[in-house]
Amino acid sequence: MKILIIEDEPKTGSYLKIGLTQAGFTVHVAADGWDGLDQALNETYDLVVLDVMLPGLDGWEVIRRLRQENRILPVLFLTARDDVDDRVKGLELGADDYLVKPFAFPELLARIRTRLRRNQASPSLDKLSVSDLVIDLPSRRVTRAGIRIDLTNKEFSLLELLVRRAGEVLPRTLIASQVWDMNFSSDTNAVDVAVRRLRSKVDDNFVPKLIQTVRGVGYMLEVLSK
Ligand code: CA
Repeated sequence: MKILIIEDEPKTGSYLKIGLTQAGFTVHVAADGWDGLDQALNETYDLVVLDVMLPGLDGWEVIRRLRQENRILPVLFLTARDDVDDRVKGLELGADDYLVKPFAFPELLARIRTRLRRNQASPSLDKLSVSDLVIDLPSRRVTRAGIRIDLTNKEFSLLELLVRRAGEVLPRTLIASQVWDMNFSSDTNAVDVAVRRLRSKVDDNFVPKLIQTVRGVGYMLEVLSK
């Protein structure tokens, strides 16, 4: 498993590198945002640990550009400020998790392992599945219980997001920013409309119902134990 650490403070960078290497990972360190982004885009990593406060290209911009390339690479960001806005911003830009500095190394390690396990849940990179719903990514073909379901591009992106983050509550604002590339202050009514359409195709004629509404927050795709 290969991990990229993007961190400009040499002390923190080498501390993380030593700890994660001892934990069995292959670790590369990039000391600024440009180098980090370049490595993340041009090499194969299983996860990125990203400091937010970086010279040159800051951590927000690194996540934004990574996600523009549609990278599914998990990103765990480190923020020095215990600031709710910061954390929300990071998650809305497409980060998967965060830790507030200073943090205990065992906690970072636990978060990394959890995230990597979650990503291994679907063994094939070409297919995503939950319950009897299967998404074939290269052909963009969706089936439920073996029955073909036709989706528009937006519906497909929305379903892909829900399935990739199955079991997590996804705020409307996050869905808007990831699927429509709208910023989070935008009207999120479009999200509700699209979810309704998606639901009628994916859930109406099937049991169990996969797409759950989380009142006042957003939506979640239920992970059902078999
Ligand atoms: Ca820093």
